[in-house]
Parts: sequence; structure tokens; C-alpha cells
Amino acid sequence: MTSASVRRVGLVVTGAVLAALTLPLLLPFPEREEGVTFCYPVIGPVQRFNPDLSHSALARTRAHEGAHASQCRRDGAIWHFVRGIFPSQRLAAEAEAYCAEARLGVESGGRARLEYARIQDELREMGWFRRLPSDVLNDSLASHCPMLAAAAAREEAEWISRYRRGP
Ligand SMILES: [Zn+2]
Repeated sequence: MTSASVRRVGLVVTGAVLAALTLPLLLPFPEREEGVTFCYPVIGPVQRFNPDLSHSALARTRAHEGAHASQCRRDGAIWHFVRGIFPSQRLAAEAEAYCAEARLGVESGGRARLEYARIQDELREMGWFRRLPSDVLNDSLASHCPMLAAAAAREEAEWISRYRRGP
């Protein structure tokens, strides 16, 4: 290749990389998403949130995406990207983020039993984890927020014994 065509290829590649990095920030926010965290080299995490979220939904989403932003700072952009490709690594990252979300729910007055059941469902619903057995998902959540899992199990046992006794 001549040096001119090398330069041209270089320009095209640079342009494509720049477009890939900036387009998600410029395009309209996808309707079904609540928030996203992009993890860039050097810059670190950049977040976007759905402008239609209610106050409480936004607080939850911020807690969730805040965990992903910490992961980005902790792992760096390349390792963060690689982790996203492998379901087991991705599961650890999502479990950590859902735990942060549920912890906020409990701190804001929610019941551990209900908050925990909700994040179990949310994780189950993620396309990435359809092939993973529920036990694997639940074990991952329990290992990332053991206190919350224990509180949820305690409340569940109380609730069942109250239900058995009747009103
Ligand atoms: Zn997430």
C-alpha cells in the first residue's frame, strides 16, 4: 500500500471508532432502556438516563448504573468490555448492580423480601441469562448481597408462618 492509502485507511478506521464511541451518546435514548453506562478508555464511565423515568425509578436506575460505573473505573475499559462478552462475568457484573438497586430500595423503606424477589425476576428476564439455570442466577445474587438475601429469606419465613397461622 502507498503511504497515501495507508493514511486513508487510518482515517476511515479512526472515523469508524470515533463514530462507534460517540453515536450512542448522540442518538435518541432507546425507549425500553432505563439507563446505560458506557465505559471508555481514558475518559472512564459516561452515563445516560431515560428522561421519562419517574423520580423513584430514576433513583433505582442511578444506583444500578452507579455500580456499573464503579466496575468501569475498577476494571478499565478493555477488561470491562471483555467481561461483558462472557455470560458468567456479565452475570457477576449485573448481580452486583441489581444488589445495589435493591439495597437502595430497602434503604428507602422497601421490604427486603419484595426487593430481592424483584431483582431475581429482573435478572431472570435478561436475554443474556436465558440459558443459565435459576439456581446459578440466585447464587450469584446471594453472593453479591448476602445480607439482603438473608433478610429476604427471614422475612419470607416470617410471612409463610403468619400465612399458615391465618389471620
Ligand atoms: Zn446492568
